[in-house]
Amino acid sequence: MKACRNCKYIVVSGDTCPVCGSKQLTEKFFGMVYIFDTESSLAKVLGITVKGPYALRVKVR
Ligand SMILES: [Zn+2]
Repeated sequence: MKACRNCKYIVVSGDTCPVCGSKQLTEKFFGMVYIFDTESSLAKVLGITVKGPYALRVKVR
């Protein structure tokens, strides 16, 4: 399981983020949250527009 460095989406299989199309995935991420409602305050804080599983924090390098 990897997280997208660009949008924090958690990618279960494959090497490309299905949300933003980025190939910048990392296994170094912390926490996990499932966004059901993209209108929620949490989704807005995280900048999420597509529902799904997201990492709370992604290690940039
Ligand atoms: Zn992404």
